[in-house]
Amino acid sequence: MEKRTFEPPVIKRLNAGMPSKFGMTPRIEPMPEVEGLKVSELLKEFGSPLYVLSERTLRNTYRDAYQAFSTRYPKVQLAWSYKTNYLAAVCNAFHQEGAWAEVVSGFEYHKALKNGVPPQYIIFNGPSKTYEDLLLATRNGSLIHIDHFDELYMLLEVSDEAGTKPKVAIRVNMDTGIYPRWDRFGFNYDNGEAWEAINRIMLSGKMDLAGLHTHIGTYILTPQAYRIAASKLADLAVNTERKYGHVIRYIDMGGGFASKNTLKGAYVPGTDSAPSFDDYADAITGALVNSAIKPEHLPLLILETGRALIDDAGYLLGTVIANKRLASGRRALITDVGVNLLFTSFWYEHQIVPAENSSQHTEDTTIYGPLCMNIDVLRAAIDFPLLKKGDTFVIKRIGAYNMTQWLQFIEYRPNVLMIDTDGKPHIIRKREDLDYMTRQEVLPEHLKNAGL
Ligand SMILES: *Cc1c(COP(=O)(O)O)cnc(C)c1O
Repeated sequence: MEKRTFEPPVIKRLNAGMPSKFGMTPRIEPMPEVEGLKVSELLKEFGSPLYVLSERTLRNTYRDAYQAFSTRYPKVQLAWSYKTNYLAAVCNAFHQEGAWAEVVSGFEYHKALKNGVPPQYIIFNGPSKTYEDLLLATRNGSLIHIDHFDELYMLLEVSDEAGTKPKVAIRVNMDTGIYPRWDRFGFNYDNGEAWEAINRIMLSGKMDLAGLHTHIGTYILTPQAYRIAASKLADLAVNTERKYGHVIRYIDMGGGFASKNTLKGAYVPGTDSAPSFDDYADAITGALVNSAIKPEHLPLLILETGRALIDDAGYLLGTVIANKRLASGRRALITDVGVNLLFTSFWYEHQIVPAENSSQHTEDTTIYGPLCMNIDVLRAAIDFPLLKKGDTFVIKRIGAYNMTQWLQFIEYRPNVLMIDTDGKPHIIRKREDLDYMTRQEVLPEHLKNAGL
């Protein structure tokens, strides 16, 4: 007979079946399959933990977003925000759907080129472009979004050296009623700085002012803020045309649409509070069509939506390493998924569900990762079924930012799998190993061996 494990007795309140604050029973639906493939078999074949991306969800989400805007406005273009997830397979799936590339560093710019994106379809954002970056982007005819006056002045020099006019937009920040206000990127609208940047560009004669750009923040729950932002950009476009007879060809509203994840401390779950693409599209296109921009000069509307396009397509699969009863009597679970792989757990209360049917009995639990670090907490408090060592689970909506902001810390990063639209799995990034980890290290001669 198998020896039963002994757990010291604790006194705790049973809360099985207690309704949540919304009057719902706390039933947690297991998720035995992702895209028709069994979680247990995926983990057996590709190792645990495992990132899984659904190509079908990715493409469907893109089409939903595009449709919401293109049914309301004649000229719409999406540009995939590389920093949200720059795995080449992800980028190319979006590019195949028609998305341009939106990059914020020299590294990302080169990655877009390597993915085969024609340079004129790359939008180069960010505060830290180098002279060499700007020169290359100018010669390539990419769209350069100027962040500050020092960059504007550098670009004047670049323009002289390149012998061709850089195609530019200015990034504009503004009061949209969202606080804290993001005023560290771009030129301020409300104090006249953005208008001054436009005047300096136009008077220099050395740049082609193609567009106007803003990115008002991220996880914005109020579409109304976009309406304000779009009308302020439209004002700048109208004034530019009035003063210089120069037509602004595009307005880029950036990213920032909320995904359906739940922010820590939020009362209402993200699935209920996140506006739809239609809500955002109403606000933005409404502001543009109601503006004083002449109908024949209606600009191309560009969107750089990141998290809202990819979050739902990503899953993180993992395995329970151990069960633990903390000194306080609290139940704790140690898993092989840590904050190193789930950076967004610092902001989100990620939805975690068992892969297999588990007991109906739930208990208030803290879920830890495998790191030997106190900060490694996936969920500080979650009403969770009693899983055993070796049981598997699925974390939902993790497609955005985790595969770029992941930390190489203590553990290797695992395989990333994409399941294509026919249900076939492909490894799109291989698990790291010691060779990968040490490839960039250089040992000085006198430290070649440990010498013990
Ligand atoms: C990060 C970023 C995006 C994408 O933002 P989301 O909030 O993920 O939609 C778009 N544009 C710029 C300039 C960014 O920095």
